[in-house]
Amino acid sequence: MALERTLSIIKPDATTRNLTGKINAKFEEAGLRIIAQKRIQLTKAQAGKFYEVHAERPFYDELCDFMASAPVVVQVLEGDGAIAKNREVMGATNPADAAPGTIRAEFAQSVGENSVHGSDAADTAAAEISYFFAGLELVG
Ligand code: UDP
Ligand code: MG
Repeated sequence: MALERTLSIIKPDATTRNLTGKINAKFEEAGLRIIAQKRIQLTKAQAGKFYEVHAERPFYDELCDFMASAPVVVQVLEGDGAIAKNREVMGATNPADAAPGTIRAEFAQSVGENSVHGSDAADTAAAEISYFFAGLELVG
């Protein structure tokens, strides 16, 4: 399988509950290497731009408010098949449907406040990584 990079975000519901370390342990146990990471506070406009693809969805406004409500940890994960592997470790969007042992099954509070974001394909991963990180910040 090819070495890939994917964009991950530890969301406000998790950073405020001090779950950054526990979530990072899940990534590392799955063989995903955290090759870049920073804690930032998004504005609503920055969150809105990131989630632009969902602009027409009914949950968009609430999602942007939530993402700007407290700090997030943005990170780049690297590994074999990292994009799909991260989605596996995250679990389903709705924690009620997430497989046991996944991040969302263990930590998410609701379908909206679901602790993590992960890119869903190679093209979105590349675009999302460059939204938050400069090339020199990625140390694989
Ligand atoms: N979301 C929500 N209500 C929904 C679906 C999604 O609040 O009915 C939020 C949730 O935080 C989710 C994000 O919007 O993680 C992006 O949705 P997407 O379908 O891309 O899910 P993901 O890729 O994060 O699993
Ligand atoms: Mg998505």
